[in-house]
Amino acid sequence: MKRVLITAGIHGNETASILLAREIKGWIEGSGISNVEVLPEANKKAVESNQRNNPEDDKDLNRVFPGKKNGSDSEKIAYEIFHKAKEFDFVIDLHTYGENRVCIPHIISDIRKDYNRNLASRLGIKYAIQTKMSSRQLFSEISNIGKPAVLIEICGANTIIEKDMEEVKKGLKDFIDRGKEKNTTFFDEYEKIRPSDEGYFIPAVKPGETIEKGSKIGTIDGKVVISDVEGTVLGIQTESTYNPESDYVVSVAKTPIKNSN
Ligand SMILES: [Zn+2]
Repeated sequence: MKRVLITAGIHGNETASILLAREIKGWIEGSGISNVEVLPEANKKAVESNQRNNPEDDKDLNRVFPGKKNGSDSEKIAYEIFHKAKEFDFVIDLHTYGENRVCIPHIISDIRKDYNRNLASRLGIKYAIQTKMSSRQLFSEISNIGKPAVLIEICGANTIIEKDMEEVKKGLKDFIDRGKEKNTTFFDEYEKIRPSDEGYFIPAVKPGETIEKGSKIGTIDGKVVISDVEGTVLGIQTESTYNPESDYVVSVAKTPIKNSN
């Protein structure tokens, strides 16, 4: 039987994914399933202090894989998780969008590789996006040693969307139960829209919506923001102050590459 590792809490403030992983863990223990292991609080001290980075060394755990045996606290945790994860056949790492952001559930992986695309197509999640980062994250380092691994983004760090949680939970349970192919749209690219104006952003689109070039995607201090790309809205900044230096207002998946049925 193929072995599955599900992780969450690599970023300690991503509550929705941590809660989801705890639920899946409870379900697995209750059903006596033996080929799946769940680590809901992979970055324990970050989860306890409800912050993205590990408070011990202020590092982003998902930027230090595959880790170091005798490195900083985060590098040691990464080393342990990486060496555990490579003993599994499938690795699924659960995350959420950041603070003041929400997204539609989507997979990020190196979907140009068949084995990742195959895993992504069996998770019951509608969208899968090609990663832009080819190393230092858990899924990318596992993928680089030739094993299927994906990251799933769901909800926002401080926003829980019940229906999206249910969709991902059902997808994971179905995968663990049967692992059949589902209907997934793969995208080769995504883009973050960063208008140059600073101010209060009010979105006019929702995650999952399709937008055209020239569509209104929101306002900044009352001034209309137009999209310069077409595609599917993956995630948005929720109503809050927008700073062009550090934020983006909408992220858009472009160029669908395959519809698997
Ligand atoms: Zn994360």
